[in-house]
Amino acid sequence: MKTKKEKMEIHPENIPVITPEMMEKTAIEIAKRRTGKKESPVKGAKDIKCPSCGNSTMSYANDLTFDVTLTGERIVIPNLTGLKCSKCSEEAFDANSTKIIEKYTIDKSVGGYELKVSTVGGGKIGMYFPKDVLRVMKISKSDKAILTPLSNRKMIIELLNSTA
Ligand SMILES: [Zn+2]
Repeated sequence: MKTKKEKMEIHPENIPVITPEMMEKTAIEIAKRRTGKKESPVKGAKDIKCPSCGNSTMSYANDLTFDVTLTGERIVIPNLTGLKCSKCSEEAFDANSTKIIEKYTIDKSVGGYELKVSTVGGGKIGMYFPKDVLRVMKISKSDKAILTPLSNRKMIIELLNSTA
């Protein structure tokens, strides 16, 4: 026969003690769940007009890579979400991705160097690297490099003979 609810006996040794580590773990778990729930606002987007080439060929992508080389350090963040153009490869990161990128780059010195595009004759166009870049990256005159266009406004220059 059933008695009325038994009063739960409380033994002090049975009361779980919440350690700071557990608190932290919980906080991490909550944060994870939150980010998991937060879907990209552009998820499922298709045939959006590309600001770069004008075709309606931009669609949602979750495999975008942010790749930047600052002075002496390369930052690569894979699996970002946003839009990608299937025609010209133009990429646009969504708000979540932008936040992630900011998080990883905020403490880094601004890596950008302005340089002029000049004509060097024979219809060729040249760019002059700033002295700082030459010094830090140890670029010398006959070094070879591979240039990879990422979009029609972005490119990566990878040095082959760099002694760095
Ligand atoms: Zn495009």
